[in-house]
Amino acid sequence: MIPHNGGIPYIFSTFIINNPIYGDTMNTFPLFFKLEGRKVLIVGGGEVALRKADLLSRAGACITILAPDISHEIRELLSDNKHELIEKNYHKSYMSGARVIIAATDDEALNHEIYADATELNIPVNVVDTPPLCDFIFPAIIDRNPIVIGISSNGKAPVLARLLRARLETLIPQGYGKLAKLAGDFRSEVKSKIPTLTGRRQFWERAFEGQVSQLMFAGNETEAAAQLQADLDSTAAAIHDKAHAAENTTPTLSDESEKKSPPVGEVYIVGAGPGDPELLTFKALRLMQQADIVYYDALVSPQVLDLCRRDADKVFVGKKRSNHTVAQLGINELLVNSAKEGRRVVRLKGGDPFIFGRGGEEIESLRAHGVPYQVVPGITAANAAASYAGIPLTHRDHSQSVRFVTGFLKAGTPNNNFKNFLNTDETVVFYMGLHSLARLTEGLVDAGRSADTPIAIVSNASMPNQQVLTGTLASIVSQQETAQLPTPALLIMGDVVSLHHDLAWYNLQNQQHNQSSDDIAKNWLREGSRGEAVKQSIDQQAHALSMIANLATNSGDDLEHLIID
Ligand code: SAH
Repeated sequence: MIPHNGGIPYIFSTFIINNPIYGDTMNTFPLFFKLEGRKVLIVGGGEVALRKADLLSRAGACITILAPDISHEIRELLSDNKHELIEKNYHKSYMSGARVIIAATDDEALNHEIYADATELNIPVNVVDTPPLCDFIFPAIIDRNPIVIGISSNGKAPVLARLLRARLETLIPQGYGKLAKLAGDFRSEVKSKIPTLTGRRQFWERAFEGQVSQLMFAGNETEAAAQLQADLDSTAAAIHDKAHAAENTTPTLSDESEKKSPPVGEVYIVGAGPGDPELLTFKALRLMQQADIVYYDALVSPQVLDLCRRDADKVFVGKKRSNHTVAQLGINELLVNSAKEGRRVVRLKGGDPFIFGRGGEEIESLRAHGVPYQVVPGITAANAAASYAGIPLTHRDHSQSVRFVTGFLKAGTPNNNFKNFLNTDETVVFYMGLHSLARLTEGLVDAGRSADTPIAIVSNASMPNQQVLTGTLASIVSQQETAQLPTPALLIMGDVVSLHHDLAWYNLQNQQHNQSSDDIAKNWLREGSRGEAVKQSIDQQAHALSMIANLATNSGDDLEHLIID
């Protein structure tokens, strides 16, 4: 309990959700205490005092530090002359005028004395880390000023409170503070233009759940303000027309136009990452949880899809062999139509939408139809495969640049630009390359790339069934014929691949090292001894040629599946 305190202006603005199970009384009551310009006394001059001073100074308090030794960090933090640093031993007279007192000394007896003195003076006191000697506690804080959330376990489990805080941090966008400020700026205008309480509540709900909030979260403050103004003006006009229509029964223009054009929804083109749901961004998760409808690709893992709002319609629009195919034009149309019905549409794409993801094409169509959209980047397969396979894409000793290449060009034409991939200082990552592994490796060697260039196949990157196969341009085709790593898979080519041997850390039981070829790659890299590798590669190249022949025979295969493989 906080003692009665002679009219300190505590601000009561708390909604209490009762605990229906236990019906217990709360040990402490959450209040938001105004400290701006008010004196807070902190007794202690070390690390603990510093932490409290840091927090309290953010609320604008005038802090007095009382301690015989005051740390350099505290001096720096409180250099503003509204604060006071007193290098003296504690005496109760320093409590005069303080609204709050913190005991942050490591002297237990002194802490008790401070507690007793403050209690006698009826000033709320907190003896740090000593719950029985605390009139109030410091909650874990989520700061989206002016929105502030405090979480407390009443000293029972501070770590749990902090974990909860971390969870909430991920769910509450940084833009909330700005949104609240914007609402504050409009508050009186809204009150004057929308006379009823219900009308105002509905207006604010629309603003906070609709486009205004999304614009703010996307960092478009000016547009958010303009949108709020436009919404307010059109709501006010509708109210005015309605009142007019009640007197005068003919329908008015804005009644009619309201019926004709429902509010336009929005499309979020969201990168779902490579599969592991923990690799989603906070923003992706938030939008997925707001979606009315989700259009998702074959590469979106079920675990990721599971994180979408439960009530959202989930529509598969992937292209994979034996699955129903929705052509790209059809997808564009679906997105536009759903948004025009006023729905919040999430277009969930594997990896990053702008890396071999056709995100650009979808946006062009949305723009053409005037549908608002946002794009949320995702972790692309190359980044995930590199990290999870222990293959750094660049390394100062081995590779100074990295190139992301598609195995296929538009309309399924093979990418045969092998001359572009001869730079030995560069790592090349092939997306959609597994089905044409033989064509690629042969083409590269023919174009002049050394046959013993290290190459890896990383299949199901970041997933529990991830597999990695390493070899050389000469050996990898026959290795894959035996290992049969499944799609989706990436090819990573370049010296950095040989680092995998030492740096691999994830899912090691699924590694498919071919010991000999792995060693070749390593030797080649570390000692520059190419002879062995070249000799060995001749047999393997013969094998690769037979693979190419096979591929050619199968070329009637639907190319669409090669593209998304
Ligand atoms: N936009 C996606 C790429 C789509 S193209 C992204 O940024 O990752 C599809 C290709 O991505 C697949 O053929 C495969 O080469 C690669 N890919 C996607 N997910 C993968 C994964 N988990 N593991 C390995 N490769 C993957």
